[in-house]
Amino acid sequence: MPTIRDTTDVLVIGAGVAGLACARDLCTAGLTVRVLEASDEVGGRMRSDRVDGFVIDRGFQVFNTAYPQVRRRLALRELRLRPFTPGVLIHTGSGTLRFADPSRRPRALPDLLPGRLAGPRDLLALGVLSARDMLAPVRFVKRAEDRTTRTALAAAGFSDDFVERFFRPFLSGVFLEDGLETSSRFFHLVWRSMLRGSLCLPDTGIGEVPRALAAGLPRGVVRLETPVERLTDDGAVTPGGDEVPARAVVVATGPGPAAALLPGLDLPAYRVVTTYYHVAPRSPLGEPTLLVEPRRRFLNTCVVSDVAPGYAPRGSALVATSVLGEDTEGREATVRAALGEVYGTGTGGWSLLTVRTIQAALPVMAPPQPLSRTTRIGPGRYACGDHRATGSVQGALASGARAAREVLRDLGR
Ligand SMILES: Cc1cc2nc3c(=O)[nH]c(=O)nc-3n(C[C@H](O)[C@H](O)[C@H](O)COP(=O)(O)OP(=O)(O)OC[C@H]3O[C@@H](n4cnc5c(N)ncnc54)[C@H](O)[C@@H]3O)c2cc1C
Repeated sequence: MPTIRDTTDVLVIGAGVAGLACARDLCTAGLTVRVLEASDEVGGRMRSDRVDGFVIDRGFQVFNTAYPQVRRRLALRELRLRPFTPGVLIHTGSGTLRFADPSRRPRALPDLLPGRLAGPRDLLALGVLSARDMLAPVRFVKRAEDRTTRTALAAAGFSDDFVERFFRPFLSGVFLEDGLETSSRFFHLVWRSMLRGSLCLPDTGIGEVPRALAAGLPRGVVRLETPVERLTDDGAVTPGGDEVPARAVVVATGPGPAAALLPGLDLPAYRVVTTYYHVAPRSPLGEPTLLVEPRRRFLNTCVVSDVAPGYAPRGSALVATSVLGEDTEGREATVRAALGEVYGTGTGGWSLLTVRTIQAALPVMAPPQPLSRTTRIGPGRYACGDHRATGSVQGALASGARAAREVLRDLGR
């Protein structure tokens, strides 16, 4: 295993997935790289913590096996992925319906039949949209006219009723906004990935993904608990006053710290999301699936330990429920009441394990949304992360890869 040499070609600040991908590509190209990470573990928004024997992700999220960067960089087998059942459950006033691709789950077909979830026109529109998104060359999707997802769905022929019953509740948990204001280009790319891959969770938490990326780096490249305070002409300074000299600096810190390190950096606004983690004595569902509701009292809820048993100790179940915005007073009680209703069970025996509020969870992706922006900020200065691409693991990894390509070009490699 190679170790880093004293002189550093490139300093990468932040060991989220963008910084780790960038560092990996630079190391592969033969450069000496140092990654400084402020916290005590790699992963940023994708790290997992242990709380009383449970695995807690930094906000509920899912892993899509079809993202091109994921396929390129990760040995999926080694992540010990546990799949969700295809589709979602939708809690309506008149019962719970299942929306799933009938080619993957034929038993879901009755709920898709006219009169239940969708009308004939919606089913036709769904077939056309899904076939095109799944089979068309990706460049067509990337170059298509960009508008809001709501406008694109109406133009594709979906009824308002179907949009409100299925697309809006389902996509609000993907976009972390509930008005379908997000770029349709991003929507089509995500839809394509969902049709082509599977939604999963690693058995030991989503943090297994950045850990696997970090394991691909030479020993000693990543230094934890080393926050960078400011950049200098020659590199960067840590709080102890140590200067780390480098020929190029890549800021991969997420939006808030990036704005502090690179004043004037053009950043999108970000969505705030809160996830409540409840412990129940047994699973209220008994199935690894996502549950949404058109009333949108929450974005989505899921018994994560039904998906990946490693999230909870034996004899208990872990329920993750996300909402838009902050954890305000009384909100947990409202969420818990909604959970009792949608799972059809009393929640009196449940306990609130922990709450995770992520202030900068996903960038606002209003149309026209560039799918990738240059990471070059100034001479020897680069910035990468989901804010320079799209708000997803794919976007963050692709931005890290782009930063590496631009650094290599500028250093004449
Ligand atoms: C609740 C939630 C749900 C999500 N759901 C999904 C999903 O289902 N599917 C999907 O594809 N994506 C999802 N995402 C998005 C995805 O997790 C992010 O896009 C991605 O993790 C961003 O990675 P990043 O490397 O750009 O930034 P970050 O993960 O923010 O990494 C930045 C790193 O920099 C470090 N740092 C900050 N300041 C300093 C400093 N001064 N010095 C050194 N280090 C510093 C931080 O500690 C952190 O480790 C979700 C995100 C959240 C929060």
